[in-house]
Amino acid sequence: MSKTYRQASETLLHGEFGVYPSKGIRYALSLTQTGLHIQRLVPKPEDDQRTVLPITDMVGCHTLRSRGVNDCHAYFSIYSYPMKKKKVAVGSTRTRQRSVRTFRVDESSEYEKNQAIAEKWATAIKCLIQEVAISSDMEITQELQPRSRRFLLLLNPCGGRGNALQQCHTHILPIISEADISYNLIQTERQNHARELVQSINLEEWDGIVVISGDGLLFEVINGLMERPDWEDAMRMPIGILPCGSGNALAAAVNFHAGFEQAMGSELLLNCILLLCRGTVTPMDLVSVTTCSGTRCFSFLSIAWGFISDVDIESEKYRHMGSARFTVGTMVRVASLRTYRGRLSYLPVLDGHRPICRSITLSPNGSLAPLQRSQLHRTISDMGLCEERNVLCKRSSAALETGELPSFETSPSPGSPTALHTSRFSFDSVPDDQSEPDHMLPNDVGPSVNSHVNGPKDDLLPPLGQPLPKSWVTVEEDFVLVLGIYQTHLGADLFTAPFSRFDDGLIHLFFVKAGISRTTLVRLFLSMEKGTHIEMESPYVVHIPVKAFRLEPLTRKGILTVDGERVEYGPVQAQVHRGLGNLISGSSKVRMTAF
Ligand code: ADP
Ligand code: MG
Repeated sequence: MSKTYRQASETLLHGEFGVYPSKGIRYALSLTQTGLHIQRLVPKPEDDQRTVLPITDMVGCHTLRSRGVNDCHAYFSIYSYPMKKKKVAVGSTRTRQRSVRTFRVDESSEYEKNQAIAEKWATAIKCLIQEVAISSDMEITQELQPRSRRFLLLLNPCGGRGNALQQCHTHILPIISEADISYNLIQTERQNHARELVQSINLEEWDGIVVISGDGLLFEVINGLMERPDWEDAMRMPIGILPCGSGNALAAAVNFHAGFEQAMGSELLLNCILLLCRGTVTPMDLVSVTTCSGTRCFSFLSIAWGFISDVDIESEKYRHMGSARFTVGTMVRVASLRTYRGRLSYLPVLDGHRPICRSITLSPNGSLAPLQRSQLHRTISDMGLCEERNVLCKRSSAALETGELPSFETSPSPGSPTALHTSRFSFDSVPDDQSEPDHMLPNDVGPSVNSHVNGPKDDLLPPLGQPLPKSWVTVEEDFVLVLGIYQTHLGADLFTAPFSRFDDGLIHLFFVKAGISRTTLVRLFLSMEKGTHIEMESPYVVHIPVKAFRLEPLTRKGILTVDGERVEYGPVQAQVHRGLGNLISGSSKVRMTAF
């Protein structure tokens, strides 16, 4: 028997209990490191009826007392959210559903004795949920139990579909109360409100700051904390995310590292609430990003230039098309593919003496896999657009195969590219859209990113404008996109960097060079949903793990985003700071670093 198996199966507590409501049923319970084993004793079942409640599905356990004065029994209730089959219009699906099991301690005729047993069980269960080490040779007393946590919850009422508050009342608050988490809930009133709030909070009052929104609100929180004079203490504050935005990349990474299947919408939210209740904290890399004015900000997710940042920001102008705007934005970008000239320099991570660099391999026949989804944009994924997206994609894939561009019923807004309606093109010689992109100039950036000098020194980076050390590699190219990513996911179903870990100390630099066919580009993004794009091969697509990089756009206009938020356009450079932040990942069994 392996050591881990023996530990997992070790019985910590064993007992026989009645249930509530009492129906003459009795159970034998055994608590192990991984689950509660329940066996019915009375009435004796015909078969050996046992069930197991996994600890990973539990959020909390409370002891209770009956209102009846003569009732000397004590009770404990276990709250869990196991996956269950649920009937839907066509067939069935599996979703997490609440389950409460209440057991009656009736061993003694004295309430105090029964209560002590109930407390012991509740303590052990709460320790296991929060991964506090207990073993069968330990006396289980209430002192072992971690004190109840206090979280500052920051909710963006405008994030995603604008239903974060509703999600909060329906799912989040009831579950975290079962986990004995106390909280203050603050709704942001405007952009940068959260950033300002965290600058002045008393750090000692909180065990964590949790954003209920998309990645943008977390970007505000991290930068607000970094702007404090006590930023080093502030950075130790555990930060968490409950996905209620349209871009939920970090939540998807948390979900992945916990070993859950890729999920979206409320399924992703429920997984993340469960993980928050477990509460384990993991160090997380932050990347210091300096833009051309000398402004420095800290990023936890990505830096994007070209295709990805264009779709992210430009799809705003298709708002009048409702939820289809992202899909259309993507198809517009594929149709009138732009390239950007730039100089990209990076400090590669050495594998022995050679830099690690891989060209992504796309199968050479270039045949277009059946287009089921066109998940090309991080913010599409959680908006329940799949159906609509499929229709648009099928149309556009048909158009791609015939060389004809899709046309949409809704008229484009004034100024949107006309290519969508008129052009024909051949795939293998892509006539790139070299017209000057209709992008805003640097002073048009959305969120203001204040200049601040706090944070660790960027010891790998000379100031922008000064030459780079010889150990750096420089390429000058026409790019379709450049992406620095340091999480596994770029969106809830964009599994862009499967090998990335929270604290691997790496920026995964991807770039796609001009010359790639539209077909290949579309295939690249489609296969990203499952992460299989890394098995593909194309000389146009490159991945390099780096410690730092500098990007000098040579095309006059364009869009740069950091964590999906627009920043000033121009030369930009970045360096990773290993484990600078602390993320509530909920699982100490996070997947191990690959490098
Ligand atoms: P989404 O994923 O839906 O885009 P985010 O959390 O990324 O959600 O937030 C989107 C933007 O909204 C961010 O730039 C954030 O700073 C901003 N924001 C935060 N609170 C508010 C608010 N109360 N009103 C308007 N914008 C806000
Ligand atoms: Mg990483």
